[in-house]
Amino acid sequence: MSQIEILDSVKAYLLREHGQFIAGEASRASDTAKIDLIDPATEQPLAQVASASTAELDAAVASAKRAFKGEWAQKTPYERGQLINRFADLIEANGEELAQLETLCSGKSIHLSRMLEVQQSAMSLRYYAGWATKIAGETLTPSFPSMQGERYSAMTRREPVGVVAGIIPWNFSVMIANWKIGAALATGCTIVLKPSEFTPLTLLRLAELAIEAGIPAGVINVLNGEGAIGQQLIEHPDVAKVSFTGSVPTGMKVGQTAMAANLTRCTLELGGKNAAALLADADIDRAVGGLLQTGYVHQGQVCAAPERVFVHRSRIDELTSKLAAGLSQAKIGSPLDESVMFGPISNKPQFDKVCHYLEQAKRESRIVCGGNALDRAGYFVEPTIVQASSASETLMREETFGPVISFMPYDDESELLGLINDSPFGLSASVWTNDLSKAMRMIPEIEAGTVWVNMHTFVDPSVPFGGLKSSGLGREFGSAFIEDYTELKSVMLCY
Ligand code: NAD
Repeated sequence: MSQIEILDSVKAYLLREHGQFIAGEASRASDTAKIDLIDPATEQPLAQVASASTAELDAAVASAKRAFKGEWAQKTPYERGQLINRFADLIEANGEELAQLETLCSGKSIHLSRMLEVQQSAMSLRYYAGWATKIAGETLTPSFPSMQGERYSAMTRREPVGVVAGIIPWNFSVMIANWKIGAALATGCTIVLKPSEFTPLTLLRLAELAIEAGIPAGVINVLNGEGAIGQQLIEHPDVAKVSFTGSVPTGMKVGQTAMAANLTRCTLELGGKNAAALLADADIDRAVGGLLQTGYVHQGQVCAAPERVFVHRSRIDELTSKLAAGLSQAKIGSPLDESVMFGPISNKPQFDKVCHYLEQAKRESRIVCGGNALDRAGYFVEPTIVQASSASETLMREETFGPVISFMPYDDESELLGLINDSPFGLSASVWTNDLSKAMRMIPEIEAGTVWVNMHTFVDPSVPFGGLKSSGLGREFGSAFIEDYTELKSVMLCY
């Protein structure tokens, strides 16, 4: 047993009254509804957070707008990059505190919180910091001849859109918030974050660290509450862009609201039912390692996790038995125990949803291993392998967002593309084979925003990430974000 000690600073933070973070200050004296935060590993109360009032929402957007027009606009791109880097340094310096807070609220293993929410989050911010000095327009030569001998010249400018609304889910709240903060700050925008109602504490702490890093008040604001606060934020006339990460049904609503409110530009990073296709020649041991790492990490609550796996019939028993053996070694328990791989599902609604899918799998498919909730306090579910015989079974179609992978055999490789693409989602997919020419031929035909070969769920800031079909609109990372966070202004000169 290697249960870690909770830091005194984390204990003190949990006891604080939490509200919003507006114009550089934490506001705690709200008389609005309180949200109880529950530890998913114990079902015990952790802390309370006040929902934002309409006045607080207006104040947060006004402070972001003031900073956008004022102090933040005065900073040079170099200074913005330096400030983002200093913010990343402080996230690392306070990493253990952030990791513990996130693990307490989300049930994510402490190892994963340290790696993704802290280290990779800081690395992504530094990636964006590098972009701050490299955002540029073009010089252009007009095509039409001049009428009276004048000369023309033209250029484009990339100008920050303004106040961004960043709506964040509960599965990787610090990391996803930092993707949006990095993009907004590198381009010169300011941001109002709306964390998930299940995981708000780390984002309030991030906003404090931003001030400590020297980022001006108002550049990063945090508003708490349930979906209605997110909706009001999107509808606000001074919000210029929405960057939303969450489920498909909410994303569809968010897109419609943003468009109907003020033609507000919108990026949507939504759910997936990601396929992995193992060709007959695939290296099964490598695939088992990959599926263990990516299909069950954070109890499968990862948007790009492989949830449907198509395996050549000749290899399916070998694959599922090796994977089941791997899962039987993994320890389930307190996410604050460093030797634990599987913690609880992050919250009660998600636990109920996963249990519903497990019951559905028992009715329609075959459970190879797992399949049950654990009889103990906390939202624990066994890591599960399901074998399907038809692509129409519920677990082959709907996002479970739980520690469940469904396997289906196929006989002929020509069936594969049809099976992979037979889904309303299009976030990611992977192909596992030793024959790269086969993989290269499949890639253009696969309907997904990212295709991995002999790997799955490797998200890197240099590589754009986002979904096709119902899985989203727009991209984070790479240079693709620049288009979403800036307006293109054309300038023409006559001389
Ligand atoms: P969710 O859609 O329930 O909530 C996401 C956020 O939206 C929360 O902050 C919520 O309070 C807010 N919200 C709810 N209703 C709203 C409304 N009407 N207007 C504005 N905001 C509203 O999603 P979740 O359960 O928090 O997250 C899990 C989902 O997120 C999964 O489907 C997962 O696949 C997806 N996800 C996608 C990515 C990606 O990059 N594509 C990354 C992580 C998670």
